[in-house]
Amino acid sequence: MKDTNIRFRVNNKEYFKQKGKEYRQSDRGKEKYKIYGKKRHEKKHEIYDVEWKNCKKYFDNQCAYCGLPIEEHYFPYKNELKLYDFHKEHVIDEGKNDLRNCVPSCNTYNTQKHKNSLNNWYNSSNSNYTYERYFKIYQWIRYDHKKYIMPKRRYKNQRMTARIKEIERLKISIDRLLK
Ligand SMILES: [Zn+2]
Repeated sequence: MKDTNIRFRVNNKEYFKQKGKEYRQSDRGKEKYKIYGKKRHEKKHEIYDVEWKNCKKYFDNQCAYCGLPIEEHYFPYKNELKLYDFHKEHVIDEGKNDLRNCVPSCNTYNTQKHKNSLNNWYNSSNSNYTYERYFKIYQWIRYDHKKYIMPKRRYKNQRMTARIKEIERLKISIDRLLK
């Protein structure tokens, strides 16, 4: 988002607040937010903090698409501009929720990307496209995330449950033998 645009939103905070409220209460708004809430739920990330940190580091703490440094990622909140973390961007919209499908993205590009596929949207017709950045995203998705992705606890728990069950079964058969 352009600097002037942010300032405009900050200066007209009450106006945007009121507009937002009206929209959310309208039929159209309600429907939209319902879908949005559902989508958000479906797109839950399975990424550890340390994975996310490494991912941002891999992209030099810049937006993977436009190169904006994280220390310049401001967004208006209440009366001031606040420094925000990047979005965990799903490169493939309907793809995985883990690190292999995640790149850091600024607000503007996160919104712009939306459901577009990478190749259709991030190409020479995009004003902030560079081949280097495109190539880096590609490398990350295809290979480099593997250096940083960690096994998920959920799966570990599943393995543990299976092992406990196996031990229980063993115990039962031993008990039977001893009888
Ligand atoms: Zn960006």
